[in-house]
Amino acid sequence: MPVTPKPLLIATRNPSKLREFKELLKEVDLPFVSLLDFPQAQVGEEVGETFEEIAACKARDAHQATGLLSLADDSGLEIDALGGAPGIHSHRFLGDGVTDDERNCHILRQMAGLPMQERTARFRCSLAIAVSAGEVYTVSGACEGLIADEPRGANGFGYDPLFLLPDLGKTMAELTSEEKNRLSHRGRAASAAIPLIRSPRSTR
Ligand code: IMP
Repeated sequence: MPVTPKPLLIATRNPSKLREFKELLKEVDLPFVSLLDFPQAQVGEEVGETFEEIAACKARDAHQATGLLSLADDSGLEIDALGGAPGIHSHRFLGDGVTDDERNCHILRQMAGLPMQERTARFRCSLAIAVSAGEVYTVSGACEGLIADEPRGANGFGYDPLFLLPDLGKTMAELTSEEKNRLSHRGRAASAAIPLIRSPRSTR
């Protein structure tokens, strides 16, 4: 009888993130589940000082809670003129209950008048794959760009309307999801993760 492979757990309860990862990892021939399938699973606070550490912590927690090969991510925007902010605090920059538009307006105000060469920034994403509690692998991807002087585009989410890709002359929010996946920090990290998911060193 054919053996059904164990699923890959995507360590999120966010349906949009799950959809995005299913698309990015579609060439991995495994069934996917998420934390939505494990409502009782206790996955603690995000702990760490870097994207890699936070992703590894989330993946380890998810593995411990479910016993499955688990993939977790952490991502954010680093703006050089703001000393790397919002960085690992991208998700809660300026506090809970603040909208993406308010965060983006704040950034634009802080950077008002800065010339393009001083508006450099990058999106970063780290993905961690927990095979066991002691065996966690991380990969990362980055996407370099500039902070536009006004928001543009209606696609994507978060800081996308501010993030200008100089070669394309478009912000991330002006790209289709296929275009974004091809060049984004998350798309690049996912490409690097695929070989690890296919053959993590431990037996599953
Ligand atoms: P997390 O990785 O889910 O913790 O997300 C971190 C935060 O970084 C998100 O809430 C967004 O504000 C921001 N971020 C991460 N990736 C992107 C992206 O692709 N576009 C726009 N904002 C992003």
